[in-house]
Amino acid sequence: MYKVNRRKFIRGLGTVAGGAAIAASTGCVSSHAMGRGGHVVVIGGGTGGATTAKYLRRLNENVQVTLIESNPIHHTCYLSNEVLSGDRSLDDISVGYDGLKAHGVKVVIDKVTGIDPDAKTVMTAGGDKFKYDRCVVSPGVDFKWEAIGGYDAATSERTPHAWKAGPQTLTLRQQLVAMDDGGTVAIVAPPNPFRCPPGPYERASQIAMYFKHHKPKSKILILDPKDAFSKQGLFKQAWTRMYGFGTDNSMIEWVGGAGGGKVLALKSPTLLEGDIEDFKADVINIIPPQKAGQIAFAAGLTEGDWCPVNKKTFESTIHKNIHVIGDASSAAKMPKSGYAANSQAKVCAAAVVDLLAGRDPGEPSYVNTCYSIAGDDYGFSVAAVYRLDAEANMINGVKGAGGLTPMDADAETLKREVAFAHSWYDNIVHDSFG
Ligand code: FAD
Repeated sequence: MYKVNRRKFIRGLGTVAGGAAIAASTGCVSSHAMGRGGHVVVIGGGTGGATTAKYLRRLNENVQVTLIESNPIHHTCYLSNEVLSGDRSLDDISVGYDGLKAHGVKVVIDKVTGIDPDAKTVMTAGGDKFKYDRCVVSPGVDFKWEAIGGYDAATSERTPHAWKAGPQTLTLRQQLVAMDDGGTVAIVAPPNPFRCPPGPYERASQIAMYFKHHKPKSKILILDPKDAFSKQGLFKQAWTRMYGFGTDNSMIEWVGGAGGGKVLALKSPTLLEGDIEDFKADVINIIPPQKAGQIAFAAGLTEGDWCPVNKKTFESTIHKNIHVIGDASSAAKMPKSGYAANSQAKVCAAAVVDLLAGRDPGEPSYVNTCYSIAGDDYGFSVAAVYRLDAEANMINGVKGAGGLTPMDADAETLKREVAFAHSWYDNIVHDSFG
């Protein structure tokens, strides 16, 4: 009965939406003070935001949750490298928001343009305002376009980064398919820290897997400003075993920072200016340096490139009642990964429910696992369990928990890791969005 009347009222208002927004527009008290569990506005419906919204509702169904997301369909970045090898389609990595709606989350498709921390209000491009008791921000990353000369958002439509899964993933796939056998693909890797530390190297491996079957004379050149990268030993061993790495005829070549791997500019669609020499390639994939998603800057939540938080609750250390999770947050020593965002979301949701109820949040623990599929029946992973050092505000790995797939693992182990990676994907999508 209440809901029907409220919906009619919202339609009449036109410029505001949601029960809490009504409070904002009329100067009424917040939904929390009205005797319910409070109103949480979640910004961003990727892994971090979707998981937070769902778990807030599961932890306390009296908490009203509004999730605001720009796009009606989310493409997961995880396993998007399999779209490049042709093992998966874009549809296979697409997910909508019906699952969250079934948990009672109000899903709004709109772009957030600002947050007023004093008025505790979120503003959208559509002209709506949402009043919150607490706000959770999980906007992912944005790119530092100024870092590589000649490369900006417009250029990236032609020379894709494909570091936010979606249409650019397909563009890159089409360029790989159109390239002649014997051509070269250059992948420009970003400096630390960035989304998915093993991602560029898994991407090179997935493209090599496609080339091995369809264009065996082709090459992949990884240009890297760094001198070391995630799971380096395991990747190099995989490349040696499958793609001739270390020989004159290797399909994959990695040029690190000391060797001139830093790229300064895109000079033409097929020419990169490097630190020491220029590089020609038929297909170029630039993964630019990264920073927190734009809304985090607009809302004044950043210090440098990322958002500082109290790692027990993920509440911003700059603005009270606003929490930042996922890639956009400074959550060292957790990596910027989907599983980390999912784990942080659960810690944050539990803390928000406690804080709304006037309770002290409990002691958190966190987890991350990251799989990489480097070839046919060839996968490996890293796993870690973390605890908070509250005094240092640092998330530290628990010694003895987790670890890496061992070097020299046998074929059966490597094959099993691929099966684990695929089942991890199904599970995390269901856990976050289902
Ligand atoms: P996202 O999932 O990017 O979500 C952010 C959302 O916020 C987006 O949907 C965006 O549309 C929305 N948004 C942003 N600004 C606004 C706004 N102003 N208004 C409304 N909505 C907004 N992680 C793993 O754990 N395992 C893997 O195997 C793995 N593989 C990867 C492979 C690749 C190629 C890449 C690029 C990444 C991979 N990752 C992996 C990393 C993982 O995808 C990210 O770490 C994860 O998505 C971070 O979640 P998030 O919520 O911070 O950001």
